[in-house]
Amino acid sequence: MRAQGVGAVGRGLGLLADTWTLLILQRAFLGVTRYAGWRETLNISDATLSARLRSLVEADLLEPRPYREGGRERRGYALTERGGDCWKLLLATWYWEQQWVPREVPLPDIVHRECGAAAGVQLACDHCGERVAFRDTEVWRKPGAPALQLLSRVHPRRTRGRLPSDPLSLLPGAMEIIGDRWGATVLGAGLAGVRSFTAFGDELGISPEVLSDRLRRFIELGVMERGFGGTARDGRYRITEKGLASFPIHACLIDWSLRWQVADGAEVDLEILHAGCGERLRVRLVCDRCDTPFTRGSVSPGRPR
Ligand SMILES: [Zn+2]
Ligand SMILES: [Zn+2]
Repeated sequence: MRAQGVGAVGRGLGLLADTWTLLILQRAFLGVTRYAGWRETLNISDATLSARLRSLVEADLLEPRPYREGGRERRGYALTERGGDCWKLLLATWYWEQQWVPREVPLPDIVHRECGAAAGVQLACDHCGERVAFRDTEVWRKPGAPALQLLSRVHPRRTRGRLPSDPLSLLPGAMEIIGDRWGATVLGAGLAGVRSFTAFGDELGISPEVLSDRLRRFIELGVMERGFGGTARDGRYRITEKGLASFPIHACLIDWSLRWQVADGAEVDLEILHAGCGERLRVRLVCDRCDTPFTRGSVSPGRPR
């Protein structure tokens, strides 16, 4: 979708902040290349799968790779360079879910091939190499731009229906955070310091119904809280520790958007700066066991615990 007037980060959100899209990409990283493979492992309808694959090809995240089987040509797809570059977003998502979302069947460990350990994922600045937490950053928005009104011309799209139930692909917490565009935008605005219901509405141009729904779900999920001032009348919202821990997910999404959507001619609408070195935060993900950066091929799922 090339919505007019939407900047790079808005476009990136429009593209990636969608549960099925993220699950299709995740499966591609795990080696799925055939239409039938997604269909079976994701328990997704043909209509939804075809529509998402078409969008992913249009956006140059996947490319068609037809193959022959039983004398017939069948549909297959491979990750492109920019699709493959989503690995950091998916790794950050996996780690946050594993750390913060209680579940009956635990997510598999993230095994770092270089050191062989079940690893934790730390966010670092690719320019200076330092570890980065949310408090070490500043958000820069394009001057004169209508604040965070990134998505006003992109229609919200909710994922309904049954999601897959195997332990690796179901990431219910993370999908609340980045699996839909409005949710991702509301939490991003919360991280950027928006506190009141009115301010969210003004900044995002979001309908009160959609805003109430997303705020309610974020409070249920424990990433936001309300009335923390201790008085019943204090209706302000803020991000909890669990919400702050999801910062690497947002940083990866923004980093990816700026790299690839600016290359396509989109304007820079928002940046995260690393206060330590003053540079734009280009994401590096580091193994907390051996201190070396992860690379795209350096992680695999451990055996389910
Ligand atoms: Zn830095
Ligand atoms: Zn390691």
